[in-house]
Amino acid sequence: MGMPLRAALLERLKEKLLEKRRTLINTVREKQADNLETGSDGTQDIADQATTAYTKEFLLSISDTERQLLKQVDAALEKMRLKKYGECERCGEPIGEKRLEALSFALFCIACQEEEERS
Ligand SMILES: [Zn+2]
Repeated sequence: MGMPLRAALLERLKEKLLEKRRTLINTVREKQADNLETGSDGTQDIADQATTAYTKEFLLSISDTERQLLKQVDAALEKMRLKKYGECERCGEPIGEKRLEALSFALFCIACQEEEERS
């Protein structure tokens, strides 16, 4: 067990994650705006929708990379809620502050990430 992450750092990383999430969802929204002719009352908020469950349409409209990233961001946020943020999903060791600062949605420590990529 490593030291718990400092509250200030955690807060900053959470902001990063939320920002990343907003950016991703905005990208998707812009794509959808290009694809769809929405009526004046068609102000369906995909961002709000997406906070609970992703619709099929939503998932189909985004690329694999975006989908993967969004999943990772959500998983990281979920781990924050469970107070498990910063723990490696695979070995349970702390991921490391530097890595988290560089990659706020990292779910694995460097060693496990390499293992995952190899397999
Ligand atoms: Zn690990």
